[in-house]
Amino acid sequence: MTVYMRKRINTQLTFFTIFIITAVVSVISILFYDILKKQVFEDLRINACLLKEIDETQLVNFKDLRITKIDSDGIVLFDNNADIGEMDNHAYRPEIEQAKEKGFGQCVRRSDTLNRNTFYYAINLDDGKILRVAHDAASIFGIINNIIPIIILVFLVILLIIIICARFITSRLIQPIINLTNYTNDIGCSQPIYTELLPFINTIRMQHEDILKNAKMRQDFTANVSHELKTPLTAISGYAELIENDLCNTDEIIHFSKEIRHNSQRLLSLINDIIKLSELDNMDDKSSFEFFDLYDVVSKCIDMLKVTAMKNDVSLFLEKSDDIKINANREMITELVYNLCDNAIRYNNKNGRVDIYIKNIDGKKTFIVSDSGIGIAPEHQERIFERFYRVDKSRSRQTGGTGLGLAIVKHIVSLHSASINLESKLGEGTKITIVF
Ligand code: ADP
Repeated sequence: MTVYMRKRINTQLTFFTIFIITAVVSVISILFYDILKKQVFEDLRINACLLKEIDETQLVNFKDLRITKIDSDGIVLFDNNADIGEMDNHAYRPEIEQAKEKGFGQCVRRSDTLNRNTFYYAINLDDGKILRVAHDAASIFGIINNIIPIIILVFLVILLIIIICARFITSRLIQPIINLTNYTNDIGCSQPIYTELLPFINTIRMQHEDILKNAKMRQDFTANVSHELKTPLTAISGYAELIENDLCNTDEIIHFSKEIRHNSQRLLSLINDIIKLSELDNMDDKSSFEFFDLYDVVSKCIDMLKVTAMKNDVSLFLEKSDDIKINANREMITELVYNLCDNAIRYNNKNGRVDIYIKNIDGKKTFIVSDSGIGIAPEHQERIFERFYRVDKSRSRQTGGTGLGLAIVKHIVSLHSASINLESKLGEGTKITIVF
């Protein structure tokens, strides 16, 4: 579900502010009413005290206040505003009951006689009678009624200001988020941005860079594959054409056939390596892992490579110092060992040697392939693990290399959460250490 952030912030900000203002106005009104009530009762009290001594004949002249005298048993003796003949017994009026009990009483209620909301204050007189003064609530709240239109007007103006402010604040809040798009693309972007969003932006930026890097790698890989496939295919096609047109003698036919076989072999190795790489790319679970003895795998690889070693006049030595069992994919480890040993033989000198060690170093399961070969110059050492990177292309091709061997090794190492370390000196040899 998508929602418009701007609309949501705007609405919530507006409603929240309206709610706060309404709450504040309500609290102020309640406090105001309370103060007003206290003030009215205080006025009535003062009036009652002053009127205590005044004679009933004079009390008739007070028009603003309703003044009532009640006997101790509740019979109304005097009222300057109503006909006492029609008034019932007042003994149970709340203010009268209070006055009888504690000397004075007060309350706000609807008058039974006048049928209006009224403030009452009653006091006990010395002769046991009760004097009650009352004020019509309508005349007091009339003041409030007069200011209600002004309050409504002020409220509407405030509402308008809130709406305008909410829009302005929302725009300001949203702007840094809108700036995000530019910020993720342009590192030096000078537009303001929320500090809290920086980790998010950095993640996006890193992912963006990864995507670009991967796209570039894929492009390079496709270009390299096409190139690597094209060269042997062109040779095969050329030799086949010569044979087809009967343009060569028997010796040449044998030579060209050998070349066709050699190039086909190259194509096959290349395709096999590409398939292996793509299998490794798609493999991310450890379900195919098993515990096995590393020595078994290494000795089998050495057996497979004996012929190549002999052809290159290189001697292989395997030294096993400890029993090392690893939890790994047997096929992948065979590939890794084979590739490293094969390289150590192929990039070696006549009468060179390859030493292979299986041992525990500082409690870590370690596999080492060390050769006395041509070595790798420092500037190439980082890059030889890249796909199709070769220091000497012609030597690699001549010896049946595809340029993918170490890329496969690196991939297998990372899938096994192992580490790889290369030490090499040009002209002296190379040592590759894998720690499981
Ligand atoms: P290739 O199929 O060309 O051998 P790799 O990926 O196995 O491809 O190796 C990449 C490059 O690293 C090789 O072309 C070679 O130049 C260099 N290289 C690898 N192993 C060794 C080694 N043991 N001694 C010297 N150079 C090596």
